[in-house]
Amino acid sequence: MLDQKRIEELIEISIEEAEKAIVRGDDPFGGVITDKEGNIIVRNGNRQNTEQNPSAHAEIVCIREACKKLQTNDLSGFISFCNAESCPMCASAMMMAGIRDFYFGTFMEDWYTPHVRMQTVADSMRSGIIVHGGILEEKTREVVDRGRGNL
Ligand SMILES: [Zn+2]
Repeated sequence: MLDQKRIEELIEISIEEAEKAIVRGDDPFGGVITDKEGNIIVRNGNRQNTEQNPSAHAEIVCIREACKKLQTNDLSGFISFCNAESCPMCASAMMMAGIRDFYFGTFMEDWYTPHVRMQTVADSMRSGIIVHGGILEEKTREVVDRGRGNL
């Protein structure tokens, strides 16, 4: 189990990746995948616009990179971090990859569709992921709001 200090450091890194995504012209989301001790395997951000790929959400970009780097399609026991709650596509992908825990910052926006919450997707799977939300909520919310052009 990671301690709160390390969890917050990793959410801070997801924020840095979200800031880079904003600069690139992508959506304001960043992710990190670590091993079970919290050592970083990959860190990256949303690339939907720059890769012209609607599935290039931060969490999925990180899964692809981690699998490539580790030469496996099984990320059992690994941990995923994002500055915001995942959409159902990313939630499903993380569980299919075997990710054990998911830590995120701010919560899904009310208008977001498909409006299926992370915990709902987790509950629908036999071997559900453990979801930990609301880490550095205020700071992660500001980045998403600014990146969406709402500030
Ligand atoms: Zn997503």
